[in-house]
Amino acid sequence: METKVVKVTDKNIDEVMEEAGSLIKSGELVAFPTETVYGLGGDALSVDSSAKIYAAKGRPSDNPLIVHVADYSDLEKIVKELPKEAKMLADAFWPGPLTMRFKKNEKVPDTTTGGLDTVAVRMPNNEIALKFIKASGGFIAAPSANRSGRPSPTLAEHVKEDMDGIIPLILDGGQVGIGIESTIVDLSEDEISILRPGYITAEMIEKVIGREVTLDAAVDGVSKDAHPKAPGMKYRHYAPKAELVLVEGEEAHVLNTIIDKASLATVNNPVGLMLRDAHVKYVREKLFKIPKDALVIKSIGDKEAEIAHELYKVLREFDEENVSIIYSESVGNGGLGRAVHNRMIRAAGHNILNT
Ligand code: AMP
Ligand code: MG
Repeated sequence: METKVVKVTDKNIDEVMEEAGSLIKSGELVAFPTETVYGLGGDALSVDSSAKIYAAKGRPSDNPLIVHVADYSDLEKIVKELPKEAKMLADAFWPGPLTMRFKKNEKVPDTTTGGLDTVAVRMPNNEIALKFIKASGGFIAAPSANRSGRPSPTLAEHVKEDMDGIIPLILDGGQVGIGIESTIVDLSEDEISILRPGYITAEMIEKVIGREVTLDAAVDGVSKDAHPKAPGMKYRHYAPKAELVLVEGEEAHVLNTIIDKASLATVNNPVGLMLRDAHVKYVREKLFKIPKDALVIKSIGDKEAEIAHELYKVLREFDEENVSIIYSESVGNGGLGRAVHNRMIRAAGHNILNT
């Protein structure tokens, strides 16, 4: 199959949406931009599209898909009950990077939800995505548009790398704004909990609903007994091809450890480093003796929002470099840092070096 990448502009948007919508209605898949990462979309209400999505991703089929809507009223059509918090959160954060989980009704096939009786729904804050959802009948099931295990795509080029020859159409909307996946909050049970941290933090949600929000025990995948309510959370995720080691601890210790490790780099054993912008120059100077071909240093930005924006792109860039191991500075664990930290430890497959 030939994969077409179409740059969506004000001029061609109507025409492109018509094509994308008819592909979805005929059971095909289309990749599209959102404000978080690129999604791989299929018709959420069709029994067959999920199998196609799983096959394209190479993803286990017990991993449920998020249903994307463009109208709040469409949410009511696919859930069994809507707790009052749903409206409060939608008013505050939709369209936006918040996915809410509900008890599903019979309109949503079990295949879309990986056999669960719940459905996770969000309204993305991206004009192309919203028009695409409307043109496709209103309900798009989509995971991130990467092959399973790889970093989520934040550029149309990333989608092309992973999906070339596998899907007919990629809608190119440029680089996404946020860069990590949506927050998932569970409204299907009495206790409201975060199943996946993201740009919208627990504190932001608590403020809106005036109730305590807990963090699901499986979020960082450290509790062996925890049964993840968000099944996707159990897999190694977002990983580059090289081994990734996350270095944690006091900043000075972290930098010293990274410098020590990288000073062993040779042309036959090249090392990659992921550093905050502010540390790149310092570390590079300390490692001036290392041959150029033995060391690749990439900046991940400084503030947490910047790191969220750059992380997957940098991880993918390392796949083009000749390195077999990458050491990365870790990030803090509060606010948006919690989500970035979560993605980093998953990309590292829990390979953490405490200094
Ligand atoms: P992705 O956007 O690629 O990260 O894939 C969607 C992820 O959303 C899945 O891996 C799950 O972790 C989560 N998810 C989707 N639907 C549900 C659901 N009904 N219950 C729990 N988690 C869900
Ligand atoms: Mg994903």
